[in-house]
Amino acid sequence: MIIAGNFKTNHTRKSTQKYIEELSKFVDLNSIKDEIIIFPTATSVDNFSCENIKIGIQNAYHTQKGSFTGEIGISQLEEFDIKTILIGHSERREILKEPQSMIKEKYDFFKSHGYQIIYCIGEPLKIREEGSGVIFSYLQQQLDGIDLEYSNLIIAYEPIWAIGTGLVAKVEDIKNVHDMLKTKTKTEIIYGGSVKPDNVKNILSIDSVDGVLVGSASLDIDSFCKIIK
Ligand code: PEP
Repeated sequence: MIIAGNFKTNHTRKSTQKYIEELSKFVDLNSIKDEIIIFPTATSVDNFSCENIKIGIQNAYHTQKGSFTGEIGISQLEEFDIKTILIGHSERREILKEPQSMIKEKYDFFKSHGYQIIYCIGEPLKIREEGSGVIFSYLQQQLDGIDLEYSNLIIAYEPIWAIGTGLVAKVEDIKNVHDMLKTKTKTEIIYGGSVKPDNVKNILSIDSVDGVLVGSASLDIDSFCKIIK
């Protein structure tokens, strides 16, 4: 299973360091064999000594280096040995207005550099209300031009209406979308959207769910450890 935590704009450099140390001890003590990934803020990444946890970046620009004020590129990621990136998160699509054309460019660029990519897709509530056919074609648009055969790809299905709202998609709804995605790709597909210690077991019991991407409930170390356990 893949258990990933997305800190978004939370935690400081100091609190991230402490979190990673504690998490690494927990993973070790409990002989956890799952793939654990943490996405801290860009200012909090470091050369942590934690072989049992992977550190990823929440966003980067599709460049080695150059004149892209406010962005970071591969040169900055290499300094910390970061080879995992989130692309297409709904907050970047919706709040930062990142268009699908740029998302695809990022995807192709980081793919060409061999990055492990967690590629996020998900529909808003008004699409959800229109039923499976409309949901599937909406999600298909987010997959257009994305190489689904890429061996270092993980897809994260994150219905937007379930992110940070406390609303979790029903098991049958998650299964429906994941099963559809499994007909398109052999890659791992994880679920995200208000995953908490008390609902993770149900979600992970679905055959076509290979893990979870956790936002709010990853911020507190005890809650994230419960999810892993
Ligand atoms: C996310 O932002 O990827 C996410 C799933 O957030 P939350 O768990 O808070 O819904």
